[in-house]
Amino acid sequence: MAAIGIYGGTFDPVHAGHITVAERAFNQCGLAKVLLIPAKNPWLKEGELISEFNHRHRMLEIAVQGRPGLEVSSIEGWRDGPTYTVDTVQQLRDEDPEGEFVLVIGQDSMMTMPRWHRVEELLTLCPLVVYKRDGEDTVDAERTITGLGGRISWIEGPLMEVSATSLRQLIAEGVDPGDRMPSSVYSYVQQQGLYTG
Ligand code: ATP
Repeated sequence: MAAIGIYGGTFDPVHAGHITVAERAFNQCGLAKVLLIPAKNPWLKEGELISEFNHRHRMLEIAVQGRPGLEVSSIEGWRDGPTYTVDTVQQLRDEDPEGEFVLVIGQDSMMTMPRWHRVEELLTLCPLVVYKRDGEDTVDAERTITGLGGRISWIEGPLMEVSATSLRQLIAEGVDPGDRMPSSVYSYVQQQGLYTG
């Protein structure tokens, strides 16, 4: 049975980098689907101003339209307090005990994993499929995670320089993000007046 990809993030907003990661994971790893899961309360970004869950969820729904294999999950939308990935993975496994899961993640986020809640338990629950980011050395990244018992495979693809932070800045300056994000998502951002102030 093909595995299901779990791809969590803040997605504030979803951008071309996220879509490339999800589509390449889906195609290269032969996954049944990739679930894009907006975090309700991204505890690693505490203190930062983050758009409401409903906006981030809606932008993802718009972004996956017409993209086979990509689905949005609101599994973290119902939870209070910090939303930990280990709880999400456990819940998905409980709901589908026969299912196999992999965690789809960017290299920069993977490097923060030693600080994650119950990370060793998480790494026993599912292997990682990782997309390179920022041109950083992958050997050290791999060593850190395998040292915690993690299993890693790498997704092939071009370095994607886009980030949600840079897009929020561009939009605030009134610059059209062009191909850095789907135009349908940018229309939603404009309609809702997101990131303007
Ligand atoms: P921000 O700039 O606000 O920190 P971000 O662009 O990193 O946001 P997130 O929603 O925090 O976006 O990222 C979700 C996941 O996608 C993380 O695993 C992150 O590493 C990965 N990711 C985001 N952008 C890229 C990219 N350009 N290349 C590879 N992975 C990415």
